[in-house]
Amino acid sequence: MRNAPEESRVYGLSRKESCARRARFAEALAQAVSNMFARDREYQGAKERKENTFEFSLALENARAAEHAAVHAYHDHIKKHGCRS
Ligand SMILES: [Zn+2]
Repeated sequence: MRNAPEESRVYGLSRKESCARRARFAEALAQAVSNMFARDREYQGAKERKENTFEFSLALENARAAEHAAVHAYHDHIKKHGCRS
């Protein structure tokens, strides 16, 4: 069983991208991920302070959906364009 291709796909996000369009998708994905983590911290913080978490959970859900869409857009581009790096 070889897991190298899967690994390179995961770690490929941090590598220098040579396809400009793919680089933009990768950047958008990185932003979506960091936004999702930020919303998660806010949500956890509100929960710990025993504040109303409704708004925070909505923002987190939206951030998760955006991250999901960004992952799809990124992989979709690679699939259609066939670019390797
Ligand atoms: Zn490409």
